[in-house]
Amino acid sequence: MRICRFTTGEEPAFGLVDGAGKKIAEISGDPLYTRIELTGATHLIEDVRLLAPVIPRSKVVGIGRNYADHAAELGNEVPEQPLMFLIPNTAVVGPGDPVVLPEITQEVSFEGELAVVIGRMCKDVAAEQAQQVVFGYTVANDVTARDLQRGDGQWARAKGMDGFCPLGPWVETELDVTDLRLTTHVDGELRQDGTTADMVHGVAALVEHVSAAFTLLPGDVILTGTPAGVGPVEDGQEVEVEVEGIGALHNRFVRARG
Ligand code: MG
Repeated sequence: MRICRFTTGEEPAFGLVDGAGKKIAEISGDPLYTRIELTGATHLIEDVRLLAPVIPRSKVVGIGRNYADHAAELGNEVPEQPLMFLIPNTAVVGPGDPVVLPEITQEVSFEGELAVVIGRMCKDVAAEQAQQVVFGYTVANDVTARDLQRGDGQWARAKGMDGFCPLGPWVETELDVTDLRLTTHVDGELRQDGTTADMVHGVAALVEHVSAAFTLLPGDVILTGTPAGVGPVEDGQEVEVEVEGIGALHNRFVRARG
């Protein structure tokens, strides 16, 4: 199933998206917590505003340097264990939302990524059991202020600013993510073209490592790292991250004007 969150101008609702990505069948409640029941209402996707398909209840856990070609392009080694950082849920925005480039950074980069949405509270999950706690998958842009990342050492500010974690367009709940093409276009130009098969640590291993450190709650999100090809994004440019089998996430970047 493809589950989206949307608004028609009123309270946000969840819905099932059809295979063509054109129609939404509205469902009642939040599918993370309740059985999926259709309300009977339907919408054309062009008539609604899609929202981030999930608001992480407690955290987004990012994974750094999980593709060897990306680690190398920034002159870094692949860490032996997954390198984790935290992004506050206030950084999450939805498909189509603008990403504001803050005045405190002059070097913002896109990072196209597969995102894992956790379905239930869990801790110390073995890799073999990881599928049982995964609700589904969506697409992320792990937006990074590269200058602040270098200067701060800690990555909290560089990756956690408001709007720096676009998620969407929806959550796909049935998907084999072991070998999916991942592409990023900036204003239509291909910049990243990778496959999730090249992750150093796959999704199951990441769930094991992350849950060894943190209790995960329903709606928490794990970003799985980015392949090579990252680069700066400037005022007015649109970034599209697409993961095969899920869909494409579009966001325009705009410079804050004081
Ligand atoms: Mg990243």
